[in-house]
Amino acid sequence: LTSRLPNVGTTIFTVMSALAAEKNAVNLGQGFPDFGCDPTLVDAVTRAMQQGLNQYPPMVGVPQLREAVATKLKALYARSYSATSEITVTAGATQAILTTILAVVHPGDEVIVLEPCYDSYVPNIELAGGVAVRVPLTPGTFRPDFDLMAAALTPRTRAIIVNTPHNPSGTTWSAAEMQQLERLLAPTNVLLISDEVYEHMVFDGMPHQSAARFAGLAERAFVISSFGKTYHVTGWKVGYVAAPAALTAEFRKVHQFNVFTVNTPVQYALADYMADPLPYLMLPDFYQQKRDLFRAGLAKTRFKLLPCEGTYFQCVDTSGINDLSEVNFCQWLTTEVGVAAIPLSAFYGNGFDQQVVRFCFAKKTETLALALEKLQAI
Ligand code: PMP
Ligand code: GLN
Repeated sequence: LTSRLPNVGTTIFTVMSALAAEKNAVNLGQGFPDFGCDPTLVDAVTRAMQQGLNQYPPMVGVPQLREAVATKLKALYARSYSATSEITVTAGATQAILTTILAVVHPGDEVIVLEPCYDSYVPNIELAGGVAVRVPLTPGTFRPDFDLMAAALTPRTRAIIVNTPHNPSGTTWSAAEMQQLERLLAPTNVLLISDEVYEHMVFDGMPHQSAARFAGLAERAFVISSFGKTYHVTGWKVGYVAAPAALTAEFRKVHQFNVFTVNTPVQYALADYMADPLPYLMLPDFYQQKRDLFRAGLAKTRFKLLPCEGTYFQCVDTSGINDLSEVNFCQWLTTEVGVAAIPLSAFYGNGFDQQVVRFCFAKKTETLALALEKLQAI
């Protein structure tokens, strides 16, 4: 069999979680909370199941959930999306991204990704027969470099994928940067795939600059988010995509033959739960406390801290500790120190190594304390 993805192995997140389990290490690698979600949300799923809401929902998602998403997008980003024709519920952001790419990328089309980037983007582009064009973010700060992006645009460019707040660096685009993107794309037909799964994790009072806020971006954007991140339920795998009607129509053509529909009782529960905006409005404070606690502890180690403006990830420079490559450092850290992390090289096509690794701080205070104790002992 000739592989469709010859250069792809098992994702680093799966590899590091398996190693963490095997070595009984504190798992700050793969991004997921180790605490429970709001019990109200679990009750709402149970209630939906007991009410018999257990068969296929509408292909595009339960109407109440699409309405709730439209209400949120309007309240936070001042843009009206039609729940009927512009919002689709997906099996997590992962499916939203793959389905978008399959829906819009023709064989030979170029798609710009900004490196380091989330590991599913490039294989998704390749599965569609597209060509991933890797444009580096500014080394050190991970901020967008608009000159490099402009230079990468060609008549074959179909789309650009932007992720803010950014996994793994936490860099969060400013309004000025979004406007620069808007100006860059204005003379083109390039589509924007806007991965905003960390939209509710932006710190220090900064607002999230959704593509939905900017008319010139929203008209070409698939705005993608994930309930798993927002409500501490990564295993439920439910997300959504909001896009103008013509783009949504193309998305849905593929969606119906990709997953067809998404888990019914969970959709009803999320719709009920979203009636109260407080859980997502409180999320920045909730995670900022964890970030601050974790950073204060890391300040007493030999790691050098990089900034963290958003997401639940903290990157650190390991060069003050030893000369190991990132992959070897993460293996050593998991095996010998008992804390798992993710090498940044996993987010680069060429395995670029800058001696920086990523920790996830979406963990209980006790978990963070235990990890810090081990990291401070290095
Ligand atoms: N995009 C980014 C940047 C992510 O970090 C993640 C979660 N790891 C996803 C997409 C996928 O989200 P989901 O779990 O909802 O599929
Ligand atoms: N997005 C999460 C991370 O970056 C994990 C998701 C996954 O395991 N694919 O760690």
